[in-house]
Amino acid sequence: MTTTVQATDDQPTDDQAADSGTPPRLPISRLLWVVAALSFFGTLVLWWLGSLPEDGDFAVGREVFGNVPELVVAMFYVLVASFVALAIGLFAVRVKNWERGSWESRSGEWKRRSRRFLEGVSMRTVAEDPASGVMHSLIYWGFVLLFLGTVTLEIDHLLPTSLKFLNGTIYEGYSLILDIAGLAFLAGLAWAALRRYVVKPWRIRSKSRPEDAWILILLATIGITGFLTEASRIAVVGRPDFEQWAFVGYAVSALIPSSDAAGIHQSMWVVHALAFFAFLVVLPVTKLRHMFTTPVNLALSPTTRPKGAMKEMPNLMEATDIESVGAATIAEFTWKQLLDTDACTICGRCTSVCPANTTGKPLDPREIVLKLGTVAAMSADPQISPPVGVDGSITVSSDNVFELITAEEIWACTTCRACDEACPAGIEIVDKILDMRRYKSLMEAEFPSDLGKAYVSMENSSNVYGMDQSTRGDWTDALDFEVKRLGEPGVTAEYLMWVGCAGSFDDRNRNVTIATARLLHKAGVDFGILGAKELCTGDPARRTGNEYVFQGLALQNIETLNDLGVGTIVTQCPHCFNTLSNEYPQFGGEYTVMHHSELLSELVEDGRLVPESTGETIVFHDPCYLGRHNDTFLAPRTIVEASGIRVEMKRNGTNSFCCGAGGGKFWFEEHTGKKVNIDRTEEAVGTGADIVATGCPFCYVMMDDGVREIGADESVLVQDISMLLDSRTR
Ligand code: SF4
Ligand code: SF4
Repeated sequence: MTTTVQATDDQPTDDQAADSGTPPRLPISRLLWVVAALSFFGTLVLWWLGSLPEDGDFAVGREVFGNVPELVVAMFYVLVASFVALAIGLFAVRVKNWERGSWESRSGEWKRRSRRFLEGVSMRTVAEDPASGVMHSLIYWGFVLLFLGTVTLEIDHLLPTSLKFLNGTIYEGYSLILDIAGLAFLAGLAWAALRRYVVKPWRIRSKSRPEDAWILILLATIGITGFLTEASRIAVVGRPDFEQWAFVGYAVSALIPSSDAAGIHQSMWVVHALAFFAFLVVLPVTKLRHMFTTPVNLALSPTTRPKGAMKEMPNLMEATDIESVGAATIAEFTWKQLLDTDACTICGRCTSVCPANTTGKPLDPREIVLKLGTVAAMSADPQISPPVGVDGSITVSSDNVFELITAEEIWACTTCRACDEACPAGIEIVDKILDMRRYKSLMEAEFPSDLGKAYVSMENSSNVYGMDQSTRGDWTDALDFEVKRLGEPGVTAEYLMWVGCAGSFDDRNRNVTIATARLLHKAGVDFGILGAKELCTGDPARRTGNEYVFQGLALQNIETLNDLGVGTIVTQCPHCFNTLSNEYPQFGGEYTVMHHSELLSELVEDGRLVPESTGETIVFHDPCYLGRHNDTFLAPRTIVEASGIRVEMKRNGTNSFCCGAGGGKFWFEEHTGKKVNIDRTEEAVGTGADIVATGCPFCYVMMDDGVREIGADESVLVQDISMLLDSRTR
């Protein structure tokens, strides 16, 4: 199968966007330059305003810029104005680089966006890993409080004496809070240094750069000189009692001889200010930028698209003006995908949960993000610093990501979504991989050779096994009751049982289909099947980038379903479930779709199915396309608990580990590293459970093969939840 599409850009330019009704892009980078100019002049105005009111003469309080010569104060304001403007300008350059990406709307969903933004600002997503969460919180909140303290001091400085508030008890509380913040800030930095240079966990060690040490030194300089400036200032004014609230500064001030206090104070003040100016430059050009970009990225992450749905594409059967599919060049990625690369904290959580990486495949999801960011940064005009810092050994000669990303990497992905779920910055990694697959598959016809056979089968036989489509309903011969065939004259049913290719043609999975049908029959559910009219949903083609084959099948299925007026569909296959419920609406197919675990668990709870528990221990393996992609975790467990004693693997629910079959991987061989299904089977068998239960035809085969391969098939049984339930229900 070598269907290809001519290469150009399928995304609208600003002019095209205006013509086609797509909202034109906001020139955010230009707006930021305006903000930079306003900041510059605004800071100078603050300087002038600050010179108007007299400093109040309060018994408990402090003189702003006390012991600092007027010329130095003047230089300070001019430099603050310049460096703040420079920092905003450097951010504008990065934003301009995101604007090279194609248009993608991220409007609406404001409530979710606000919540995600607050989660980012409050470090909630980072705190999901307690070790780095506490460390980041100490640094971040310590810094924020110290910064707000400086802003508060400046506001008080600008106010007329009658309105000044930073005196008396308020001043004492202010001093206490800032000293606590300063200590937290330094403690967080010490913890960070300890983690990076002593403990050295792999995911941090592997991406450590010299600039990480410089950043820590710079931040520590700000914190330490802050305390020394405070201590020497207190020494200059003779260590009044009320300054004891600044407990760190007060204690240190005892070590400073009063004769040297004024000189030390001026020196520390200057070093503290210079360190802050350096911070303003370092902030946008190093990974420190994620202080801002991560919360913004989190706010922009929610989409109206369901988690399990791939990005929508125009109808390839009808469109005549589509010149490129997928993404290879920077302009073919969206602006959000480029922003993602600047929001990456380089924490490596995505990599640590990736089944491909864990089992030795050449895929590292963090590298996918960083390589895209590197190509975007190095092909920018002017060049900007790559996400993880400058690496002289990396050269890029064009804006094509395949200069750094290999085909082996993107074909190793099982699309399990573990990386997206683990990422504390809301980065969408799976979408990027799937966009690149679309490009490879349709623009370059470059895909694993086994996939070519699957594509031919889907195109020629309408099922991925290449079997005679007229035999799709033959599994019903094993039943002792009739199954309705929707589409035959006068035949209707409450539920359409969507069997799927595996349930129709794979020997092991036919037993799942038979068990499901028997259970529906026992519960008196009115259901029917499509038989030969049911075609492959196209999921294996879409997940491997062949949108053309996917759409060909999807449009035929939608026509059939719409013609029959099908309302509710039940299916045992999470991939069919995901495609029918989340992706067919992109082409006008709107149905209520249930996974068989949902309907069967309802029937158990309603007492229409009454299983007898055998007391065996059962461990459930969460299929990625049922769990992480569609948040269905409880329904299959209801069935497990009705059938025996539920036990859990360590990696379960959202943290489940893939069986290795998703993303079309079932249809081509794994040649590198340990097999993913063996890793997962060992974990399942390691629980000591009598039965490994699954809820997906491909998980079933992978786990069943795995149990045989590790020689555990004598002691452990692998069953779909429908087989489990059927064998316990009269
Ligand atoms: S989707 Fe799964 S296999 Fe693919 S990169 Fe993410 S974690 Fe790895
Ligand atoms: S993509 Fe997300 S999880 Fe992966 S390294 Fe970056 S921030 Fe961490």
